[in-house]
Amino acid sequence: MEERKTIIYIMSNERSGSTLIENILSKSSQIVSVGETYLLSGYIHKIGPGSTWDWNCSCGDSLLECDFWNKVYRKLNILNPLDITNTKIVYPKWKNKDKQKSDNFRAVSLMNQIYNAVFETTNCNILVDSSKKPFHGKSLYKNSPFNFKFIYLKRDLRAVSISKQKWWKRYGREHISLLSFLKSNYKHRLKCWLMLKKVRKEDIFYLKYEDFFVSPQKALDDMSNFFGFDAFEMPKFMELNNDHTIAGTLNRFKKREIKYDNRWHDISKKRPLFNFLGYMLNKIG
Ligand SMILES: [Zn+2]
Repeated sequence: MEERKTIIYIMSNERSGSTLIENILSKSSQIVSVGETYLLSGYIHKIGPGSTWDWNCSCGDSLLECDFWNKVYRKLNILNPLDITNTKIVYPKWKNKDKQKSDNFRAVSLMNQIYNAVFETTNCNILVDSSKKPFHGKSLYKNSPFNFKFIYLKRDLRAVSISKQKWWKRYGREHISLLSFLKSNYKHRLKCWLMLKKVRKEDIFYLKYEDFFVSPQKALDDMSNFFGFDAFEMPKFMELNNDHTIAGTLNRFKKREIKYDNRWHDISKKRPLFNFLGYMLNKIG
């Protein structure tokens, strides 16, 4: 019997290193990374996040023109990619619960078909989806026809808050305090925790961003054991290499050395209350 294909779903907050981990894993010949498939329909229709690079695939072509994604559409028997209207699985609110549930049902089924088509297109047996969203991931996990596993990636809440505030400013958005970011980032952590309670322990690989940088090769070797791909040497740089990924971190197009960015430490120290609360919240979990 053919071995079941594996999905590695990266669950994390934004600004937590998910694009970096995805990029490293994609250097294995057994692994294909497709980025944040959650945003695929948005990228096809050019709506929602992604306007900075005109919603293009990481190869530079639009989602209507990219060769890789066109192969995927053909495998799905989709003649017009604009027919793909929803790849987001969203927590149903009571107001439109039934409609959301049936939309979600269709999105799960479509995502499974997309995963299959990607496997058929690439000859890889492991696919990395860095959609990050907790509910989206949990919904795909439930009754998945694949060997569905998670990387739960956590980064210091203070680092995430400072990084988010920096990008927020860069986009000229209204000022939000670091304490507000801290609060919403902690809430996000609780959401992940709630969703992962519904996942079997043996299907979760826990990864702390900070621990990763203590010994990147060891972290990569641990992942190789956990997910069952051949060990390989940790790349020195984060760079795109014939990849066709959706979304990801804002500066992913630049080749950058993989190293720990400690600039947030000084900023945090200058704000004792924020620094202390963040420290305590990190301790809680
Ligand atoms: Zn592409």
